[in-house]
Amino acid sequence: MWTVASYVLRQKLAGRKQYPLVLMLEPLFRCNLACAGCGKIQYPAHILKKDLSPEECFRAVDECGAPMVSIPGGEPLMHPQIGEIIAGLVARRKYIYLCTNALLLKEKIHLFQPSKYLTFSIHLDGQRDGHDLAVCREGGYDIAVDAVKEALRRGFRVTTNTTLFDGANPKCVRAFFDEMMELGVEGMMLSPGYSYDKAPDQKHFLGRARTRRMFRAILSNRKKSWRFNLSPLFLEFLMGKKTYPCTPWGMPTYNVFGWQKPCYLLQDGYAETFAELLATTEWSNYGTESGNPACANCMVHSGYEASAVNATFSSLAGFLATVKATLFTGYHDEEALRLLDEPQAPVHPLVQIATPSESLQETRA
Ligand code: SF4
Repeated sequence: MWTVASYVLRQKLAGRKQYPLVLMLEPLFRCNLACAGCGKIQYPAHILKKDLSPEECFRAVDECGAPMVSIPGGEPLMHPQIGEIIAGLVARRKYIYLCTNALLLKEKIHLFQPSKYLTFSIHLDGQRDGHDLAVCREGGYDIAVDAVKEALRRGFRVTTNTTLFDGANPKCVRAFFDEMMELGVEGMMLSPGYSYDKAPDQKHFLGRARTRRMFRAILSNRKKSWRFNLSPLFLEFLMGKKTYPCTPWGMPTYNVFGWQKPCYLLQDGYAETFAELLATTEWSNYGTESGNPACANCMVHSGYEASAVNATFSSLAGFLATVKATLFTGYHDEEALRLLDEPQAPVHPLVQIATPSESLQETRA
């Protein structure tokens, strides 16, 4: 927290309006899962075979300067030099979130050393049945939980990251939080799913109004034992208590194509350098307020968490709101309790593969 706070204050004092907070470094697109809601693995085979070299990763990290590096993919543990990449980033004193489905974690854990700079961010999309359904892999939850225990036993930092889609049962999500806290993870990350047009399942992405309703049910009346690894104001944004514009430059993406315009989710071209990305992207064309249909229902953390962090440091009111949200986490809300008791639509046991024309059409409310 101190590293982030001092970094953001330095950017403010330097008068930088657009600064990166987290570099999303995708060293490969290959994966050992084919999740229904993922838009990252639909590339042709010759692209899926490509890896960023450690040197390319280090150059991107140095160029960008963000204090945190999130390594999604693809599945980063399938990268043949992932140990070397992580060691190089730890040496640079970057806070790394290695995002993994954990299927290979026990097998590859000897490649890493426990460090305050390295956190395994384990992809778990809910309790056993919900997770296995989301990742289209029976037994995936048990393997991941086993790997979490092993990583904790060896002294690694471990968090979870959870993507929630339409049909997620708020009561089950809350029970999942209890399970993760009992397991001993350091914190939990949450995000609503983004409606990738390449994702096989197009029916279960959330629109903005439904996102807020679902997160209000999940995150109100919070238990003291729950710890989230997210800005408290971003959690309030998800609950509908705050509105922010998107700051896509806050979490820029570098992958085998270069610097992706404008964000982790959209691909409107690539830049060769981070400076070129900042200078040549038409930022006003993005974000919910822009009217861009690709942004209409987006509330994902890669667009809006940096906005929430920026709000904390932009005014005294923002800072005080963050202090309040950190100290008073109960969010007592009778209506949210009622939402928890609403009957849930049954979730279909099989993923429906839809054509893009059946994409969700919802709301910019
Ligand atoms: S609103 Fe979402 S999709 Fe649009 S630029 Fe921001 S993060 Fe990307």
